[in-house]
Amino acid sequence: MQDDIKAVLYSEEQIQSKVKQLGEQLSEDFNGRNPLVICVLKGAFIFMADLVKAITVPLELDFMAVSSYGQSTKSSGVVKIIKDLDVSVEGRDVIIVEDIIDSGLTLSYLIDVLERRNAKTVTVVALFDKPARRTVDLEPDYKGFSLPDEFVVGYGLDFAEKYRNIPYIGILKPEVYEK
Ligand code: 5GP
Ligand code: MG
Ligand code: MG
Repeated sequence: MQDDIKAVLYSEEQIQSKVKQLGEQLSEDFNGRNPLVICVLKGAFIFMADLVKAITVPLELDFMAVSSYGQSTKSSGVVKIIKDLDVSVEGRDVIIVEDIIDSGLTLSYLIDVLERRNAKTVTVVALFDKPARRTVDLEPDYKGFSLPDEFVVGYGLDFAEKYRNIPYIGILKPEVYEK
């Protein structure tokens, strides 16, 4: 499986220390509040697990699954809710935990949904960002790393459901997705 990786962009250690920093920052900024932390499945599941362990304020969590890519490496622009939240966001300080922002379409759709459901505040935390690919005006409130315009896998991110369990983030060899 790791033979399919062309280059490692950020190592397991680099990611872990960044996630700790983000958790410390969020703990400070949400001191005295009780945020509802939402994991955007499936890509953010590892980030979510590591991040909440680094947050020291009381919080609740929930999961949402959306699809915008299907089996492709490009966003279709159509976002579909595959699994909705179990709890209400009304009046809550919501933190959306996202793996990566590419076009920004998925997140802008999600923010819109949560605001229409009367969340008190909506904060976006993204571990990875590809700012060069943005088609909508959207900046995460907290972010880990900026990435070049390359399709990446690992640390929760897949290609056709594979490679999520690689502990670092890397670029696939082109022949893998040209097959
Ligand atoms: P956007 O709607 O911002 O274009 O894309 C959002 C979602 O597409 C991300 O949350 C992520 O799940 C997926 N995605 C975007 N870029 C990449 C990438 O380079 N690699 C992988 N595996 N998924 C990506
Ligand atoms: Mg995602
Ligand atoms: Mg995917």
